[in-house]
Amino acid sequence: VTPIDEETLQARAAIADMAGHPVAEISVKAPRHVVAQGHRTIRYFLFWQSVSGVLVTLMAIVFVRRVILTPITNLNNQVTAIAANSSFSERLKITSTDEIGEMSRAINQMLTALEAANDRQMAAFEELKQTQAQLVQSAKLASIGELAAGVAHELNQPLMVIRGTGQMLERARTDGRLVMGGREGQRDLIERNTKRMMNIIDHLRAFSRRSSRERTRVDVNKTLKSCFLLIGEQLRVQNVGVEMELADELPRVWGDENQLEQVLLNLITNARDAIKTKAASYDEHYGGSMRLSTRHRMGSPELVEIRLRDNGGGIAEDKLDWIFDPFFTTKDVGKGTGLGLSISYGIIREYQGDLRVEDTGPDGTTFVIELPTDSGLEAPASVVEDI
Ligand code: ADP
Repeated sequence: VTPIDEETLQARAAIADMAGHPVAEISVKAPRHVVAQGHRTIRYFLFWQSVSGVLVTLMAIVFVRRVILTPITNLNNQVTAIAANSSFSERLKITSTDEIGEMSRAINQMLTALEAANDRQMAAFEELKQTQAQLVQSAKLASIGELAAGVAHELNQPLMVIRGTGQMLERARTDGRLVMGGREGQRDLIERNTKRMMNIIDHLRAFSRRSSRERTRVDVNKTLKSCFLLIGEQLRVQNVGVEMELADELPRVWGDENQLEQVLLNLITNARDAIKTKAASYDEHYGGSMRLSTRHRMGSPELVEIRLRDNGGGIAEDKLDWIFDPFFTTKDVGKGTGLGLSISYGIIREYQGDLRVEDTGPDGTTFVIELPTDSGLEAPASVVEDI
């Protein structure tokens, strides 16, 4: 039997005679219904199998996306957003009771624990900041106490001028020489000196005020000059010459004027003390001097540099590593708290600057402060624009 084509089948058989020799052949052709039906069934089966395969795959994709991928992506997005903002008070939305829902619940518990830990840490940090502010304030008040003698000198001088003028006027009155005209000079003298006293008192009041945490744009040259309102006369009395070389058009720095003055006053009083100690070991008069300078340094970041050079006895090499440590002092009890440099360093670091000893030896010491300018540093979070 041989298939002719898809539709037809041919069967052939030989017919033999008595002797067994083939004498005829019978050939029959028949249509292939069953075979064709079989082929159709196979094609039909293959077609529907492919269709159902595609459908099942599509359904599986949709199922996996809906039930697994989308919830995991959502979970991931929510966790990433919380981590990016450190917003531990937020919670994940729980939309299912499956494993992903369980995982969200566990993450929420973790967030609750994190939030509590974060709150405790913030409270401790706030407390530490308060304590630090109190320490800074205490150190400042201690330095004001130490400055009192100097301030008394500062106030005494204009007071003497006013008193002298008053006595002169009184004498003129008793001698009968007091006339209303021609007294402008004396009036101006009184005016100028009372103004000077008022300035000193105002400045002392402002300086002793507790510093706010707000930052403004500070004029370093002006702050440097105002230090001498409180200590200038004292240095003059102690024969310490002060030389200043302040750069013109110095850019401003972000900070608190009051705190910066505290740092500068601390460096100036340390320089004064070093000079005083050195002078005490000299028999003859020792010409103490300090030199202050400011400079604008270009670069990245742009800086304002303040230098203070004194001709005191310098810092011993074995002490150099300790001077910025709290409570380290080489001064007598009651004269030094050992807090000045450590607090000053803390303040300058908070302004993203640097405070260091550049050079020290028997001829004196140079301290350098570097502060980023207001253009070299982005405005800090707590800023009050000055007018
Ligand atoms: P205090 O002035 O209360 O001692 P500081 O922290 O301001 O505390 O200074 C620590 C120490 O650093 C001082 O006791 C002194 O020994 C040393 N020191 C600071 N500045 C100078 C200076 N210009 N010359 C010499 N020694 C200095």
